[in-house]
Amino acid sequence: MFSSVLIANRGEIACRIIRTARRLGMRTIAVHSEADADALFVREADEAHLIGPAPARESYLVGARILEVAREAGADCIHPGYGFLSENAEFAEACAKAGVVFVGPPASAIRAMGLKDAAKQLVERAHVPVVPGYHGPKQDPAFLRERAANIGFPVLIKAVAGGGGKGMRRVDRLIDFEEALQSAQREAANAFGDPRVLVEKYVRAPRHVEMQVFADRHGNVVHLFERDCSLQRRHQKVIEEAPAPGMTAEVRSAMGRAAVEAARAVGYVGAGTVEFIADGSNGLTPDGFFFMEMNTRLQVEHPVTEAITGLDLVELQFRVAAGERLPFSQDDLNIEGHAVEARLYAEDPEKGFLPSTGRLWALRFPDAERLRIDAGVAEGDAVTPFYDPMIAKVIAHGDTREDALERLATALGETIVAGPRSNVAFLKALCEAPEFRAGHFDTGFIDRNLEALGAAPKPFPAAAAAAGALALVARQTERSLASAGVARRGPASPWDVADAFQLSGERRIGLPLTVEGERVDATLGWDEEGPSVEIPGHPVPVGQHELSIVETDEGLIVLDAGRQTSVRLYDALDHAADEVDAGGVVKAPMHGKVVAIFVTEGEVVEKGQRLAVVEAMKMEHALVAPRAGTVIEIAAEAGQQVPEGAKLVVVEEA
Ligand code: ADP
Ligand code: ADP
Ligand code: MG
Repeated sequence: MFSSVLIANRGEIACRIIRTARRLGMRTIAVHSEADADALFVREADEAHLIGPAPARESYLVGARILEVAREAGADCIHPGYGFLSENAEFAEACAKAGVVFVGPPASAIRAMGLKDAAKQLVERAHVPVVPGYHGPKQDPAFLRERAANIGFPVLIKAVAGGGGKGMRRVDRLIDFEEALQSAQREAANAFGDPRVLVEKYVRAPRHVEMQVFADRHGNVVHLFERDCSLQRRHQKVIEEAPAPGMTAEVRSAMGRAAVEAARAVGYVGAGTVEFIADGSNGLTPDGFFFMEMNTRLQVEHPVTEAITGLDLVELQFRVAAGERLPFSQDDLNIEGHAVEARLYAEDPEKGFLPSTGRLWALRFPDAERLRIDAGVAEGDAVTPFYDPMIAKVIAHGDTREDALERLATALGETIVAGPRSNVAFLKALCEAPEFRAGHFDTGFIDRNLEALGAAPKPFPAAAAAAGALALVARQTERSLASAGVARRGPASPWDVADAFQLSGERRIGLPLTVEGERVDATLGWDEEGPSVEIPGHPVPVGQHELSIVETDEGLIVLDAGRQTSVRLYDALDHAADEVDAGGVVKAPMHGKVVAIFVTEGEVVEKGQRLAVVEAMKMEHALVAPRAGTVIEIAAEAGQQVPEGAKLVVVEEA
C-alpha cells in the first residue's frame, strides 16, 4: 500500500479521501488555490501546498504544477477525486511519466470514454444498447437540424465533451433547434473548450439508472449494483438512491452485464460508473435501457453504494491502484437495505436556484444513527463564487426505502444553514413528496413540481421579520442596559433605556428595519404581555412555532423551517440601493462573467427581450429587459468579470 497521497481536488471530496487515506496510514498532501487557503480540507490534510490563484484554470486544473508539488512532497500517488483533472487522460499520462501512481483508470480508458460520441460507437460494438441519434463528426447546423427532424422531436443536443449537465439542450420543436444548438455549442466551448455536439432522441419519462463498476489489473470486473439518480434539475443530480425503486433481479443482471461489458471494452481499471437512461413509462425492463456515458472516476453519489454494500470505495481505489486484486467476486456481493443521498447546495430555490455565497454563520447537522454527512465546509467558513457551491452531502441508510427517506427527511429538518441561502427545505420537501415516496418519478419530476416543493417566490415572511425585530430590540436593550450599568428587574424592556428610543405616551414607536434588503417600517409596542411588532400590510401570525435566530455581523438571520430571513435595523445607506433598483437597471444576479451582450445603446427593446448572458459556475443565466423601453446605457462588455449586483444594462421606460 502507498505511504502518502496527494489529493488533486478540494471541498467535500478532498475531505472524504483524506479520511480513508488516513485510516490506511497514509500521509495526506493537499493542494489548494489562494481562495481555499483556509478551507476545511486544507485544515484536515497533514500538509498543504498553494498551487495558484482562485480560478480553477490557474490552480486545480494546472497538472504540471500539481505534479511539481507531488515530486517535492514525495507523494506516492495522486487521487484526483471527481471533476477537475479526474477525467483528463493527459494528466494520467503525465503522472505515469513522473513516476507517481494516478489513482484511476489507464489513460487509454479515460480517452476512449471521454467523448460521448466515440464512447457510444465503441460500446455499441460491444453490444451495449445506446440511445438512437447522430453521433458522427458533422457539425453543420443545417445538417444537424435535418438529423433532429429525422430522429423526431423531442431531441436532446449534448456536448460530446460534456459533463455536469452542461452543454445540453432539450428541443421540442424544429423552429427552436438552431438557437438551442448555438447556445449548447457556446456553453460547451466555454466549459470544455470543445463546441462539438451530438443529437439524440429524448427518452420519454426518463429514469437515470447507473451501475457502479470496479475492475482490477488482473482481469476481474464486477458491478456494485445500481443507483437511481432520476431526481435532477438542469440535468444535474439532486437526490440519488440505491437500489433503484422498481428494479428487478432480471433487469439488474442485464444492466450489470452491459456495464461490465462496457468496462471490459476499454480495459477498465478502478472505480467507474456506467450511466443508462431508461424509459420509465412502463417500469424498468431488460431491454428498456440505453447507455449514455461512462464516468471514469469516483462519483459524487458513491456513498449510497458504500452504505448498501458496506464497502469503502476509496479504499478499493487505492488497493487496485497499488496492484492488489479485488477482494471479492460478483457472487460475494449483496445489497443491504436502502440508502438515499441529498446534495445540500448554497443556492436559492426561491430565486431560480441562483448560487449563493458568503459566510456560513451557522452550519449544524444532527447526529443520528445510520446518517452520514460528507461536508466540504464547516460553520464559520465561506462559500466562495469560484467553485461548485455544494455545502455537503447528507446520506441516510435504512432497512427499507421508506425508512431511509424518513431518516433523511428528519435529518434535513434538523439541519441548520444560515448565511448563504440553501436548498435544505427543498430537499426535505422532495423526500416527503408523496409521488416520489411511492416510487413514481422520472427526471422531469422536479421541474413539474417546483411550486409544490417550495421552489417559488414566497409571500413576505412577516412572522420571521417580527421575530427578528424583537430579537434585535432585545439585543440592543441588553447592550444598552449593560453599558449603562443598570440592574434589571424582570425581562428587559426597551423603555428601561431612556436613550434607546423616543418614548411616546402609548408606548409605541416606529422601528425601521431592513428585511431581506427591503425597507420595512415596523412599529414596536409594549404592554403587560411584553413586546410586539406590527408590520404595515403584513399581519404577523401569532402562536407560531419556534423560530431559530442566528447572529451575523450586521444583524440576524431568522430560520423558519429552513427558510432564511435576514433582519437588521434600517440603515440610511441602504436607501441609495433601493433607488437604483427602481430605475430599469439590469444587474448581474451573481458574481460571474459576461458572456454576451445582445443589445446596443439606443436600441428599442420589448419587455422580456434577452439583453445579456452572464455565466457563473459554468452555467449561463440569461438576463431580460424588465420593461419595454430604450437601452440608454451598456455598463459592461462581453468577457468582463462582474461582481454580484453590478450594473450591466439600463433600460429607460418608453
Ligand atoms: P456525478 O456523476 O459524479 O454524480 P455529476 O454528473 O453531477 O457528478 O457532475 C459531473 C461532474 O461535474 C462532477 O465531477 C462535478 O464535479 C462537476 N460538477 C457538477 N456540478 C457542477 C457545477 N454546478 N459546476 C461545475 N462543475 C460541476
Ligand atoms: P453529463 O455528462 O452532463 O452527465 P449525460 O449524458 O450523463 O451528461 O446526461 C445527463 C442527464 O441528462 C441524464 O442524467 C438524464 O437525466 C438526461 N439525459 C441524457 N440523455 C437523455 C436522453 N436521451 N433522453 C432523456 N434524458 C436524457
Ligand atoms: Mg452523466
